[in-house]
Formats: sequence, C-alpha cells, structure tokens
Amino acid sequence: MDEKNVPIRTYQVCNVMEPSQSNWLRTDWIPRSGAQRIYVEIKFTLRDCNSLPGVTGTCKETFNLYYYESNNDREHYIRESNFLKIDTVAADESFTQVDIGDRIMKLNTEVRDVKVTTRKGFYLAFQDVGACIALVSVRVFYKTCPLTVRNLATFPDTNTGADTSSLVEVRGSCVNQSEEREEPKMYCGADGEWLVPIGGCVCNLGYEEKSGACQACKVGFNRAVSTDGACSKCPPHSHSEKEGATVCDCNQGYYRSESDPASMPCTQPPSAPQQLISEVNETSVVLEWSAPLKLGGRSDISYKAGSLGDVLFSPQQSGLRATRVCVSELQAHTRYTFTILARNGVSQGHSAGAGQSVSVTLTTNQAAPSPVTSIQAGDVTRHGVSLAWQQPDRPNGVILEYEVKYYEKDQKESSYRIMKTASRSADITGLSPLTVYLFQVRARTAAGYGEFSGPLEFSTNSDPLPLIGDAANSTLLLLSISGGVILLLISAAVFIISRRYKHAQTHMASETQATAKTHTHTDHLGIYVDPFTYEDPDQAVHEFAKEIDASNIHIEKVIGIGEFGEVCSGRLRLQGKREIYVAIKSLKAAYSDKQRRDFLSEASIMGQFDHPNIIRLEGVVTRCKPVMIITEYMENGSLDTFLRKHDGQFTVIQLVGMLRGIASGMKYLSDMSYVHRDLAARNILVNSNLVCKVSDFGLSRVLQEDPENAYTTRIPIRWTSPEAIAYRKFTPSSDTWSYGVVMWEVMSYGERPYWDMSNQDVIKAIDEGYRLPPPMDCPVCLHQLMLDCWQTERTHRPSFTQILNMLDKLIRNPTTTLRRTGGDRYIASSFNGLLEPVAGPEFVSVWSAEDCLQAIGMGMYRDTLTTAGYTSPDSLLTLTHQDMTSIGIITPSHQDQILASVQQVLLSHMQQIQEQMPDSMVPV
Ligand code: AMP
Repeated sequence: MDEKNVPIRTYQVCNVMEPSQSNWLRTDWIPRSGAQRIYVEIKFTLRDCNSLPGVTGTCKETFNLYYYESNNDREHYIRESNFLKIDTVAADESFTQVDIGDRIMKLNTEVRDVKVTTRKGFYLAFQDVGACIALVSVRVFYKTCPLTVRNLATFPDTNTGADTSSLVEVRGSCVNQSEEREEPKMYCGADGEWLVPIGGCVCNLGYEEKSGACQACKVGFNRAVSTDGACSKCPPHSHSEKEGATVCDCNQGYYRSESDPASMPCTQPPSAPQQLISEVNETSVVLEWSAPLKLGGRSDISYKAGSLGDVLFSPQQSGLRATRVCVSELQAHTRYTFTILARNGVSQGHSAGAGQSVSVTLTTNQAAPSPVTSIQAGDVTRHGVSLAWQQPDRPNGVILEYEVKYYEKDQKESSYRIMKTASRSADITGLSPLTVYLFQVRARTAAGYGEFSGPLEFSTNSDPLPLIGDAANSTLLLLSISGGVILLLISAAVFIISRRYKHAQTHMASETQATAKTHTHTDHLGIYVDPFTYEDPDQAVHEFAKEIDASNIHIEKVIGIGEFGEVCSGRLRLQGKREIYVAIKSLKAAYSDKQRRDFLSEASIMGQFDHPNIIRLEGVVTRCKPVMIITEYMENGSLDTFLRKHDGQFTVIQLVGMLRGIASGMKYLSDMSYVHRDLAARNILVNSNLVCKVSDFGLSRVLQEDPENAYTTRIPIRWTSPEAIAYRKFTPSSDTWSYGVVMWEVMSYGERPYWDMSNQDVIKAIDEGYRLPPPMDCPVCLHQLMLDCWQTERTHRPSFTQILNMLDKLIRNPTTTLRRTGGDRYIASSFNGLLEPVAGPEFVSVWSAEDCLQAIGMGMYRDTLTTAGYTSPDSLLTLTHQDMTSIGIITPSHQDQILASVQQVLLSHMQQIQEQMPDSMVPV
C-alpha cells in the first residue's frame, strides 16, 4: 500500500536470513534515443536490519545498480559479469516494525546518472545482496536544452553532452526574415541550460525585432538601414502601401534626389526666384534677385542664368549659389532677355522649369568698339611697313574707320603720326631706316572711338635684302635660318614639354588631392579621431553625435554620480522610433568652458564607435541647458558593483562569457587605434542580458591636457601598467595590463585589486615581480592569462585578438581547460586534498623544482630530474618508485625521501608564503 493506502505493485525481496545473496532483476531494452547521458530515478523502501532480530551478518541495507549497453533489443540472457556497475545505492530512510504498525511508508528516492554512448540502447539491472527491499518505481530520463530563440536565432531542442561538465556547441539558425550578423552560437550545458550566447541575427530591411521575431513594418512605416532598430514612420511627404517596406515612396509631386537618405522627407523643386532687377552698364549687366518663396523643403538651392547669344556670365552661368550674376560682352544697344532659373537637388527631370524661372528684358547702352587686338606686320622695308588687323571682337555698331598711330620708340609719344583708313590694313611709308617704331590701332563707330590696341614694336631695315647666291652671305643666311629653325624647334619642344609637364603636374596634384580626400574619409571610418584636434569642440561633437531635442527625453530617476554631474535613467522617444530606455549624463549648472569641452569630448569619442560591447551613444543635448549626453541604458549598472552583489552566483563559463565580451570590445577599440587608459570593472556596464560593454571615455583627455598634475592624482594605479605609471607610455599593451586586472576583478567577484595595500606598496610590489594570486576557484589557465597580461615587457603581453582567441578556445573546450585551482583552498585544505592532480599546476608559478629538491636535501638529482622533464614542483608530486628507477634514481632510501618529503615541503612553503604575505601575492 502507498501512503494513501492504495495498493501498488512492487518488486520485493527479503532474503535476510541467508548469507551470500545475489538476486538479479533486469529491465527490458531501453532505447537511448540519441541521449548521451541518462538519469535513473529509483524509488524504493528498505527495512532497517536492526529492527529484524537475529539477522546480524546476513542482512544488508544496500543494493547495486548496473547497466549494459546493447544494440539488441531482445537479449534472452545477459551474463551478470557483462553488466557494468553504476553505483551501490543505500537508503536515506529505512523502516522498522513500528513504522509498519503505524502504516508509515518511508519511500527513498535516489537518482544516478551514467554515460551511454556506445550502443543503440541499454538494459538496467538491480542486484540484491541480502536486503529487505521493495522497488517501487524506476524512471529513466535524459536532459535537453529546450528549443529557444536568442538574439533572433533559433536553437533546436538539444540533448546534453555525455559528461557532467560537457558543453555542446550548437549553431543557431536565423529566424524568418532575418540574416546573420555574426555566426549565432550557444552552448548546451549538462543541466539542460543554455550558456554563453555568441553572435546573432538582424532583421532584414523592412522588418523589425518584436519579441524574438522579425515583424514586417506596418503600412506607413519602413526600415531602410541595416543597423539594429525599429521600423520608422515614413518621413513627411512619403508613404508605404504594403507591409515590410524598405523604403517609403514619395507622394505625387514630391521627389528624392539620388543622394538623399531614405530617412529624409521627400521634397519639391523650388518656386521661381523673386524680384529680378537689372543694372545696365554700357555692354554689361548686373542681375540681382531674391530667393524663391518656396524652397521645396531643401536647402541645396542654386540658380542658372540664361540668355540668347554669346555672352559671358560671371562668376558662372549655372550652379550659382549667390543671388547675383554679372553678364558682360553684350552687344551695344541691343535688346536682351535674361532668365534666372531656381533649381535644387530634385529639379532634374521633374517639372521642366515652368514656374521656376523669372525673366527680365532690357536694352544695352550705346558703346564704343572694343580694342583692336590682332595687328600683324607684312612687308618691312627701309622706309616703310604694311600692317593688317582684324575687326574688334565687339564692334558695338558699324565701324566707320580705323586710326593708326605710330611713333619712334625713342621719342615716346611726344611726336606721333596718325593715319586713317576705312579698311583693315595700312601701308605706312616715310619711316627712317634702322629705327624702332611703335604702332597702335583703334576703331570708330557712331558711338565714338574705342581704345587703342597695345603697341606693336618694329624696326625698319638698314639695307636691301642680301642676295641669294652671295657665297659668304648665303652660308651665313642658311646657317642663321637653320639655326633659327633649330632654335624654333627646340623652343617649340620646350614649350610643349613644359605645357605637358605642367598639365601632368596639375593632373597629379588634383589626383593627390582626390586621394588625400579619400584617405581622410577612410581614416575617418576606421581610425579613431581625437576630438581635441578640432578647434571648435561643438563641431567635433556634432560631427560624431546626433543633437537630440530635450523635449524628447523624460528623466525618471537618478542612478549615479559622474565626474561632471548626475547620471539619470529615463526614456527617449525619437520621431518614428520606439521609445527606449536611456542613461542621461548631465553637466552640472555652473561649468567652465573647459569643463563643457571635457564633458562633451566623451560623446565625441563614444559617437565614433559602433560595437555590441561598447556603450552606444544615442545623442547629445547642447543647444539648451543642461547639456546632456544620452546613452543606451544598462540595467545592471557597473560590473564591479554588480559582481559584488552576486558573489559566487555565476558559473565559470558565465564569468568567462563576460570577459569575452569585454575583450571583444577592447579588440574593436585597439583596431580603431583608441587607447582606453582607464579599463577597470567599474567602467564596464552590464545590461539585463549580462552583456558587458566598455564605457567611460573621459580619462584619456585629462591626462593629456594636464600631464603634471594629473600624473599621480588621476592615474588608477592598481589598473595601470608600470610603464604607463612611470613615463605615461599608454598603448594597447597598457590596456592589456588593465584587462588582466579586470579578469582578476571578475574572477574574484569584484574584490579590490591588491586589497588594502597602499598605491605606493602596489607599485613597489609590482616592480619587485609580485603579481596577484589566482582568485578562489579560478581556473589555472585564466590565471595564467592574467600573468601574461602582466608581463613587465609590454611587447610580451598578448594582443586583444590573442586574448579573444584564447577565451573562445576555453569556452569551446571547457572540460580540459577550465579546471579549478581552488585558489586559497589548497593552502587551507587537507594534505590529500592538496595533492589532487588538478590542484597541481599553480605550483609552477609558485616555486621551482630545484628549490624544492634543495630543501629536501636531494639537490644532486636536480639535473637527472630536469632532463627527464620534471621541471616544476607539481611534476615532482607525480613521481613513483618506478619512474625514479627508470630515470636512474635507484637508491631506495632516496626514492623514499623524495616521495615523502616533496609534499611536506611544498605544503609548508605555501603556508610560509601565506604567513609572510597576508596579501597572498604570488612571486613570479
Ligand atoms: P560615469 O560618469 O560614466 O562613471 O557614470 C557614473 C555611474 O552612473 C556609473 O558608475 C553607473 O553606475 C551609472 N551609469 C552610467 N552610465 C550608465 C548607463 N549607460 N546605464 C546604467 N547606468 C549608468
């Protein structure tokens, strides 16, 4: 009968009087269905032997549980010796005669687990060895990590691994309408719990994340950019007609230019410019107008001027930014119509100018002809020259005549002669031989004379031309002609080459300029820009941070105190976006220019980063007071306080998961060439998913600005590398040192590094080669990684890429690597506990094998042992008699001495260290 007095069936045996019992009961074949580790829950009752008179010696109070793996689901007979024992099961509760009388049922429940990986199924067996026992029920089960969705990736129902510590790596698949951002992975732990989510997916464009799935944007909404975020309302003058829109189409009559972002409202071409006025000055006109009434919602307005005929617009005809243009080279006394067309980024192709232009008609003044420019000399004789020229560019009317003015160069203009002609040539005679003359020409119309041309210089000849055939002269002539030709050729060549060279140079210069431009651009994307290189701090902050309207922020409560003022939490609602929780840092009321600049510099820095493990900047408020910096809200606050609050509550894997996040953020920063300088657990923030993000980008500046006084007061000594303390050498390697300290803080749940030692003592201890010991329960390899980060020579420290790889490897192979050291435990624990092989390796950094051998008077075997590979004290602990004989330590008393003393000496050495150094620093 069970406790409710209902009859139940049980398997019973009670051969307590006879000795040497071995009674077997076997189950049917149980398929293992993919399970690797099964759990057997047994419910049974057991009679207390003491309550049975006269059974001493034969009555037992335990039974044995066995299993046998097999592919055969119908084994007729399995030899008992083929079964493997799982455990001997004893009862917590046994019943006596009195219990039976009182009808008390004392049911025991025991659970055992075993790895079953070799066959399709197994049999279980129970061996009674002489107990009085009733087997009430047996339940066999295995554990799975249940189907789940994390970071938009689905992870299937997964059987746990074969070992109690194994983690099964599972790759997730992106939920519908999403795509991978970083390969989604998680680990299924032995208890059926999911651990360490890595990577994840993002919703496709046109979709947004809603409770773990991607939902299409509603009609009237869209999502156009592939960063995290919600669908946003279509910008003004646009719409989406279907769900899942990636872009909102413009309403009729509204347009988007190719370079307009999809988030910008749709706009219109401008209306016509207004109040066009003209001012005529002879043959040029200045046109001025004012901006159109409607700019169409854009600010990229420009103007194009138009007119018939060959005229010159300055500064240019189209692309005019100013509302003024000068037109010259017009015909005199001529009617012109000028049009000014307003255009903007969406004018192209839409509405062909009607309604967008304004015109003016005017008549130019009478004007004299422009100067004659092209005078050429024809025949030159001893007493004369013939000249010819072209009509002026702008005659501005009918040319009535030309006037040639000429005079001897030496006489200047004091005595000149004039000759008039109606044609475009003149034969000037009556000149003196061998004299230099200057000639100028001007034209006359009804409007008067134009300006004279620039003077043309000429010399009349001395003698008649030399005759061809005159030997001496002709050679000379030939020579001089050929010389002239060669000279001409050379100068032509030089001219062409120099032109080309110049052209090439300008071309190269413009190319260099172009490359320089692209360079700055890429630099901008990949490399951190120090906001203090900007002269105007507001320019820097607006380059990297979005200005938020203070009315969109609702402050809810104060959550902390920062260097410049309060830190609050609250909500931020931006147009067309979902309301989000944010942290709000404000600048206290009375501030100096320098304080404002320093305060905002954090935003200028933060705004340049985009990484899941770096705190995200939402924007700034600078245009009204108080000045604020808005960032994403991190529910669990800073990491040090968070860990102290949850002391001992996480698994090593969870802690390593946090460290991985921090390392990933730091790798990103170092790839951006940003050195943090103040990496510490207090500057890491934790959100509700335990994601850790690097924050606090303020300190770097303080140090640079004010090196002297910041030197000792501002440097966080306990987190800073020796070279950064000594001569302010801050590099990614000094950040690595700080990362080691953060590892230590995390593994010790927020303990203060170097406890209550003073800063001076810390600097001294580090200098003397001491390093922090492994925190309690910290795996050896993690402490080794900390020690690597704390290498004195900074180039020997690992990079963040290496650290990240190492942590990933750890997470992948936790059973082999994440063995616990026991930290302080091995000092306090019993002798045998100390000598568990897993507790060994930390001695490596504690003491040398050589010291240990010296201490026990066995120094003569130093070389023998070293050659055989026994170099560390913990390796000495593994020695056996056989090992020693095989490497040549054959004296039995020495073998005994080594075996007996090594353990003793190591233990007392550890105790000594602890006594001498209450801080339990570890010398390296
Ligand atoms: P800080 O000036 O950055 O050191 O901020 C001061 C304190 O405000 C921190 O120690 C945190 O407790 C809190 N805090 C700052 N930023 C955030 C945030 N984004 N989310 C939650 N708490 C924050």
